Amino acid sequence: MHETAMLDTELAAIEVIREVLVLQRRLRDGGCAGRVCLRCVRHHRDAVATAMAHGRPIDFLLPAFPTKSPNPAKVLGPLPDLAEELALRFLESLCERIAEVYPPGARIRVCSDGRVFNDLIGVGDDNVTRYVHELNRMIARIGAVHLSQFTLDDVYPGADHARMRAELTAGRGPHTDALRAEVRRGGDLVHMYRGITRFMLEDLSVPGHTGSRSALQRRSRELAYGVIARSRAWDELLAELFPDAVRLSIHPQPCSTRKIGLLLADTPDVWLTPWHSAAVDTGDGRFTLMKRAEAEAAGARLVTVRGRPSHLVLARPRTAAPVPAPATGVLRHAR
Ligand SMILES: [Zn+2]
Repeated sequence: MHETAMLDTELAAIEVIREVLVLQRRLRDGGCAGRVCLRCVRHHRDAVATAMAHGRPIDFLLPAFPTKSPNPAKVLGPLPDLAEELALRFLESLCERIAEVYPPGARIRVCSDGRVFNDLIGVGDDNVTRYVHELNRMIARIGAVHLSQFTLDDVYPGADHARMRAELTAGRGPHTDALRAEVRRGGDLVHMYRGITRFMLEDLSVPGHTGSRSALQRRSRELAYGVIARSRAWDELLAELFPDAVRLSIHPQPCSTRKIGLLLADTPDVWLTPWHSAAVDTGDGRFTLMKRAEAEAAGARLVTVRGRPSHLVLARPRTAAPVPAPATGVLRHAR
């Protein structure tokens, strides 16, 4: 390649990585520094530059959008709603910004992982199927031409759902004993383990539950290990299928690792996702994510669109004073 062309590719690759890293979700004390971490730029530059040298669109993989939480205190229902739509629009806008720097652009393959562990989190396979179909419809409706979905059903078409999960974990993913040892040693996994355990505990603590709190905690920890083990197996399978893709994650990541943690929504709780919460119009033209029950306790009311629950709206303040209710961040880049 001509020297100038090489330099142009190199600079464009850095520009592309910067566009992504501006939105980076970092692990606290994970080693990243600066608004855009230069060590992470250097670390991820080559994967992007390789795609660019061949003139291909840059492929990103994002395991996310599994299924709605089964907890009605958190979400508006089992189907994708405005919370997912805002996150998809945000991902599409990221691809559009990358295309401005690098015309062949980027594609984000959303690797919905609901089928991978829905049996562990108390969500039926039918709900996962409906969620995936609705998400595909949403991607088409909002014209997100750079986004697509990939699920376990695409890997084992026509197979029984339990069989798919058995095939996935056969020879892939760690044993839960190994994960337990990893958590005991401390390190990066502890954060994810605690986050998932907390979600499991919240989702199991539904009205009508009988049994002690400590039994629930034990069960939540057990299930969290199961979810992490399955997610790792899914991760390994995706690496086998898409070896050249740049890996994204919704979980905060330490500096210069294989994946880039991506901020889908700017909330104070880094573990809050569109599928664990509802989109809330804060009354000043901005959206945030909140758990349904918390938003309703702050006076938010439900808005339906096309006959389905869409989002919540906090009452518009009568004076020029700022909206008092949510002590939360705001969905950036949302619209
Ligand atoms: Zn870094």
